[in-house]
Parts: sequence; structure tokens; C-alpha cells
Amino acid sequence: MQRIDNFVAGQLSPSQSNRFASVCNPANGEAIAQVGLSTAAETAEVVAVAKAAQVDWAAITPLNRARVLFRFKALMEAHKDELAALITTEHGKVYSDAHGELVRGLEVVEFACGIPHLLKGEHSQNLGTAVDSFSVMQPVGVCAGITPFNFPAMVALWMFPIALACGNSFVLKPSEKDPSLANKMAELLKEAGLPDGVFNVVHGDKESVDALITHPDVAAVSFVGSTPIAEYIYSTASAHGKRVQALGGAKNHMLVMPDADLDGVTGALMGAAYGAAGERCMAISVAVVVGDEAADRLVAALKPKVAALRVGPGLSALQGDGPENEMGPVISAAHRDSIIGYIDSGVSEGAELVVDGRPLAQQGPGFFLGGSLFDRVTPEMRIYREEIFGPVLAVVRVPDYETGLKLINDHEYGNGTAIFTQSGEVARDFGHRVQVGMVGVNVPIPVPMAFHSFGGWKRSVFGPLNMHGPDGVRFYTRMKTITARWPKTEGAEFVMPTMK
Ligand code: NAD
Repeated sequence: MQRIDNFVAGQLSPSQSNRFASVCNPANGEAIAQVGLSTAAETAEVVAVAKAAQVDWAAITPLNRARVLFRFKALMEAHKDELAALITTEHGKVYSDAHGELVRGLEVVEFACGIPHLLKGEHSQNLGTAVDSFSVMQPVGVCAGITPFNFPAMVALWMFPIALACGNSFVLKPSEKDPSLANKMAELLKEAGLPDGVFNVVHGDKESVDALITHPDVAAVSFVGSTPIAEYIYSTASAHGKRVQALGGAKNHMLVMPDADLDGVTGALMGAAYGAAGERCMAISVAVVVGDEAADRLVAALKPKVAALRVGPGLSALQGDGPENEMGPVISAAHRDSIIGYIDSGVSEGAELVVDGRPLAQQGPGFFLGGSLFDRVTPEMRIYREEIFGPVLAVVRVPDYETGLKLINDHEYGNGTAIFTQSGEVARDFGHRVQVGMVGVNVPIPVPMAFHSFGGWKRSVFGPLNMHGPDGVRFYTRMKTITARWPKTEGAEFVMPTMK
């Protein structure tokens, strides 16, 4: 069986660990590779490699660092079909969606290519008589990235292009469920001219993560994953003196006003709830509908569409097996069982199961599940409170806008949300008062572009700086402010210095 090794100092390096995880193709359930779960000692060695490489990399001009990223982007594009097929093989999402993930990730590389402009800093001339002050943004050192299974390329691309462009070195610990993309990107970075040791991949689980987030030579930790782990990473790494950005789970609501265009809402919900089998942190998992009449119409429109979802292997169209499926399998048998457990709980807690996706789980060896649709879900139910991370949409009926807004604001998560309405006044009020980090107005999945920053509110995020955009540059740099007086010097002053 294929073995997936670490990528350290510019080459593949087999893990010394005697612990391994199987990497499966979720479309047929077969194990396709084994990945070593690196030990703490090995992980520390990788950090030492990254530390040694960082000094020379930081000395290279920002323009030349950007040129490596320009070449990396061109190489990623040249290999995009192969990369997308690999994403689909290990993750399960359909091939066109895997391409979409690459496009969104490469937009961050494009942003990072502008790093000479982004690192210009600030300058104040003559802030005291003959005194100038300027602020420069310097790299922080070794940065670590710990990423989830659901975007094996894109989430890592939120992090390392900016970290590298700023002059840092990077250690990526990808999800052990779909680890190959990380190695491919490491190979392409090397081909693009990145010096060995500046970007490294260490595969593993809690043992290697703990080694990274407590290591004295790791300066910054970027994490994306579930909320309990995000909270753990944030508290542990911060307690060890690191700057941390830790993005967690989500329960994204769409508020549907009675004046919304029903066809538009139905189409938007189908894609946002069932695309990538609901395994997106910005997936809509709750539709909050104002008024019974609108809810009746929406559920009636959704029902046949959810029941008719084309579910199957993500590579079927590529292999000439009919039109592309709309939804692939979920990541693992355990995750499929967890989703089924949620559907069971929704039924037993009294929600109305309009479409039941469970029967599809009986067919075939892959980790498939049909789309499920619940109506008359209430806020006490587990299927409302918890993140399911699967193809399950819950419809909650509310009498008016204020009740819907309060529901969203009371939820523990605050990653993304959307409102569908034709009223500018209501949309504006929603954008102003909703307690969520990323808001769509008639846009179901409002993922900010690379030159803005990505991040939620409440228990969807830990740490003050979000991913990519201006926050990304701030996160991967530390500011130094130099105040200078030329050419005169003055004698000793014993009072607090003030500008004269
Ligand atoms: P996860 O939290 O299980 O794993 C994320 C990473 O943490 C992996 O690399 C994993 O190896 C590591 N990890 C797992 N358990 C650990 C532990 N006990 N100690 C240390 N490290 C540990 O998440 P997942 O299942 O891979 O991904 C799905 C989750 O990610 C969902 O909750 C989803 O909402 C979230 N997510 C959030 C965003 C966002 O931007 N907010 C984006 C993508 C995914």
C-alpha cells in the first residue's frame, strides 16, 4: 500500500512512528494509503529545520519572495486537474467542486504576490522637530498551520502563501484523513524555487499537534477545524506564548423573508446546504423562514429537489460515467454514522423529516448518504444546536423578522449567515445587527475574497486576527517602530520624553 511521508528540508522523509492512519477513498471505502502519525520528537526536528531555513529566507527581498509565489501559482494551475482529482479521491467532493476549492485557494496566492506593497509599513515625518518615525513589518519566525479535512488545499492556502511572503518559514500539519495535497503543494513550492526547509509538512494527529503548539521555536499557530479543538489550540498555544488564530465550527442560518424570490432561495439553499455533502464551514444548515405561508411554499419547493439529488462518486463524470453528481460521499463511515445519529435524534425529538437521506447509506461500499430535509425544527433540538457537518437542512419557522434575528444572535456559533429579501431596509438592518462574522445579502455563501479577511464571531473563532487579507499580513508579521533623530543628539532627559 502507498505510504505518505513527511516532507522536510525539501524531500520526502518517512516517519519514524509506529502509529499509522489509513487514508480512504470515501467513494468506495477502500484504504488507498497509510500515513505515519509523527512523534513529538520528529515534529521538533521539523521545527528545527524550519527555524534554520527562516533566517536566509527572510533576508531575500519581498519582491523575490513574491516571484517564487508567482511561479508556484503557475505550477498549481498547470497541475490543477491532477490536484483536483486527488482532492476528490481522498475527500470525496465532486471534481468540479475540487476545482473550485483550488481557485479560491489560489486567490490567496495572488494576494500574497502583492507582498512588496503590503509590507510597506508606515512613516511619519517630523513628528517632533527633526524627528521621524517609521514602522516596519517583520516576519515572526516559524509558523505552524493545522488544517481540517474538508478543504485539503484551500485552507492551507489561506495560511502559508502569506506566511511565506512575509518572510516566515512554515510547518503544515494537514488532516490525516486527506494528507496528500499538502505534499503535492510542497513539491510544487520546491519546483517554484522555494529554498529547502522553508515549507515543511509533518503528518500526524494530536501528538504532533501538541508538539507544534508547545514548541518554544514556533512563533505563530494558525488552526482551522472544529470548535472544541480550536479552543484547545488557542488556549494551549497562547499559554505557550504564541500568537494564535483558531477558526472553529459553524451553524450557518439563512433568514428567508416572505418577500424573497422563492426560486432564488430554493436554488441557493440546494447548493449551500447540500454542496460538498454539507461538509463546508460556510454551508447553510438552518433555513429560518418568516411566516408559515412562506415556509410551506419553500418546503414544498425543496422537497422534490432534495429527494432528486444526484449522489455518487465525485469522479464519475471524469471517468465518462454520465453527468457529474451533485453530491459525493462524506469523509468516513464514522462521520456518516454520526450524521445518521443526528437524523435519528431529530425524528425522536419531534422534527418533521420531509426527506430522509438515510436509506442511501445502505447501498454500496462508499460513505454515501442522501440529502435530508427537516421541517418544524425548534431551538431546543440537538439538530438545531449542534454542528452536524453533513447534508441535512433544518427549517425553523418564525413569526417575524425580529424573532429570526434573535434566534441567529442567540446561537453559540457565528461563522456565516445570509438574508434573502427584496427589502433594502431589512437587509441593511440585518447586516448591522446580526452577531455573525460573514454576512450575505441574497448571497448564500458569503466567503470573503482573498484580499478581505475570513473569520466568524462567537465560538466560531478564537483569537483576534482572521485568515488572509489584511489580517493575514498582520498575523504573520510583527511591527517594529523606529523613532530617529538626525543628526543632532541631545543630553540626558529625566522626564518622560515628549515631542518638542
Ligand atoms: P478537527 O477539529 O477534527 O481536526 C482539525 C485538525 O486538528 C486536524 O489536523 C486534526 O488532525 C487536528 N486534531 C484533531 N483532534 C485533535 C486533538 N485532540 N488535539 C490536537 N489536534 C487535533 O476538524 P475536522 O473534522 O478535520 O474538520 C471539520 C471541522 O472544521 C468542522 O467543525 C468545520 O466547521 C470546521 N471548519 C471550520 C472552518 C472555518 O473557517 N471556521 C473551515 C473549515 C472547517
